[in-house]
Amino acid sequence: VCAGTPCLSAGALPVLEALREAVAESRLDAGIEAVGTGCMGPCSRGPLVKVRIRGKETVYERVTPELARQILFSVVKGRRPPTVAALPPELPFFARQMKVVLANSGSINPERIEEYAASGGYSALSHALHEMTPEEVCREISTSGLRGRGGAGYPTGVKWNLARKAPGERKYVVANGDEGDPGAYMDRSVMESDPHRVLEGMALAGYAIGAEQGFIYVRGEYYLAGRRLEAAIRDAERKGLLGSRVLGSNFNFRIDIRTGAGAFVCGEETSLMASIMGKRGQPWHRPPYPAQRGLWGSPTLINNVETLAAVPVVIGRGADWFAGVGTARSKGTKVYALSGQVETTGLIEVPMGTTLREVVFEIGGGIPSGKQFKAAQTGGPSGGSIPAEHLDTPLDYESLEAIGTIMGSGGLIIMDETSCMPDVASFFLDFCRDESCGKCVPCRVGTIEMHRLLRRITSGTATMDDLYRLEELCDLVGATSLCGLGMTAPNPVVSTLRYFRAEYEAHIRERR
Ligand code: SF4
Repeated sequence: VCAGTPCLSAGALPVLEALREAVAESRLDAGIEAVGTGCMGPCSRGPLVKVRIRGKETVYERVTPELARQILFSVVKGRRPPTVAALPPELPFFARQMKVVLANSGSINPERIEEYAASGGYSALSHALHEMTPEEVCREISTSGLRGRGGAGYPTGVKWNLARKAPGERKYVVANGDEGDPGAYMDRSVMESDPHRVLEGMALAGYAIGAEQGFIYVRGEYYLAGRRLEAAIRDAERKGLLGSRVLGSNFNFRIDIRTGAGAFVCGEETSLMASIMGKRGQPWHRPPYPAQRGLWGSPTLINNVETLAAVPVVIGRGADWFAGVGTARSKGTKVYALSGQVETTGLIEVPMGTTLREVVFEIGGGIPSGKQFKAAQTGGPSGGSIPAEHLDTPLDYESLEAIGTIMGSGGLIIMDETSCMPDVASFFLDFCRDESCGKCVPCRVGTIEMHRLLRRITSGTATMDDLYRLEELCDLVGATSLCGLGMTAPNPVVSTLRYFRAEYEAHIRERR
């Protein structure tokens, strides 16, 4: 039974209890067990139940406790089939994906370290500690072409090498799990569904750069992720996979959790470090970069959760294997939270370079109620909208940048023909205005003024001068803000103006 946040909120817990009771009541074979797993993917169809018999899997959607009992008796005792729809593995939602970072999600119980180990977990760490030097681990990451999955797409190997070579007696590794983009929950799902994968990635990073301490910065609202990570850390310490002399080597590595308090700006690396150090979560100027001077003045490697979760795969399967997936400059796979006006929403993972059309119309099943696709928002409030004419754009760093948006952390919001694009821009700008930490004037004042102008436009009270003023402010706020939040706040406005300017002008004409 999927025990990820979306299914739990849809009622997965009573389903799991009903299944456990049914197994006990029926005195079924000891080989039958009802377990909670991580996210299975089609989140809008929960509660989800996956039946695995001798490796063959079927997922059932919208399962109630009574239906769960029917499923159990039908598959185990050969009774009549349940009256619930099964989602077969051939369904494009499953068949068109390539699960690498999510390989264990929905398949193992995230609260049992033994299940992670049985899936090959911690073997990459063991291999690195006993057969590779830290330099070789860094080289492997560089060769793989892995790039940061948190938004910027910075080459992970370059970052690791900078941190490794930076002088300093103490070094730190930080996993950024502060994911705050509206519509994004990739990192939450990875932390909830496969917490040991994140810990293993962090330990590999610690070994590679010479750090003995790691922190996972978990968004405050991610209670379940924090709880599972805490339990995973305790289990890993108990098994000698974290702590002193990891796996019998000379490497010591400890991980602690720091919980955020819900500020979007704390996903920015300097604010995040300020927050970890117990200070107010506000950004500071770079350089020096965290890899040179980070936590308490020491070199600090900060990677997003999904990036770190890919690391055991790179070391375990080899850089060449990883580099063989994706496009020439965007390697590997990417996890997306597919949401909005699409038939099947949920968590998906596809090779870099998969087109937006494949994601929306094959994996997602298209737009509901026969409506037309209008746009997709990538990169959350820092990103932009992709119109229908660019549906065949490959989802990779370069192709998205070329059409004026970014991959971001992986939020993918689909909009149909009924969406008003100035309204969409206004929503994201309202978010940035609300989340501005107030430290610098362009962002603090500029986002308020930009939002005011957008409201005038969407309410039909603006003139063309308001639109020109809005465009000027987009340039100014983007160019002069201190941190990424302000620098990218204008992006949804800029991209909707680029592709849907006529809608802005129509709102203004309506006034006359
Ligand atoms: Fe704070 Fe915005 Fe300035 Fe960033 S850009 S420092 S969030 S006011």
